[in-house]
Amino acid sequence: MATADPDCLFCKIVAGEVLATMLAEDERTIAFMDINPATRGHALVIPRAHVRDLHEIDTDDLKAVAASAQRLAARQLERLGADGVTLLNSNGAAAWQTVFHFHMHVIPRYANDPLRLPWVPAPGDMEDVARAGAELAR
Ligand code: 5GP
Ligand code: ZN
Repeated sequence: MATADPDCLFCKIVAGEVLATMLAEDERTIAFMDINPATRGHALVIPRAHVRDLHEIDTDDLKAVAASAQRLAARQLERLGADGVTLLNSNGAAAWQTVFHFHMHVIPRYANDPLRLPWVPAPGDMEDVARAGAELAR
């Protein structure tokens, strides 16, 4: 039995205590509609087990979330006529995470839809790109 946090909204959705428009489920994950959709068809995939974020999620649960997101993304193209899909996962308040149970947003994209990613790509300082890369590389 997956661990639940009694104060967590998404655990309540897993338990059926808070209603959601369910899309899919398997042993490790459930998928449901986001009630504040960025675009038509915006879905969320979550592990059944309560974990706060990417740093805590079990690797097998992460794989199961990714596989579910992949299936949903295909359906968004086939059934909603989406032209593309954005996967989005925020970790920590600084990253604008607002619900602290790991979730993957699966956001259908439509040609010329108004959704914009939260940064405007512009050329970086290449020396700092290299320095940050050096800090990250193994
Ligand atoms: P975050 O901001 O943490 O990346 O994403 C949390 C998401 O959960 C938001 O997109 C928000 O619309 C969604 N959400 C918040 N409360 C509920 C709820 O009660 N039901 C559903 N289905 N989605 C919710
Ligand atoms: Zn939870």
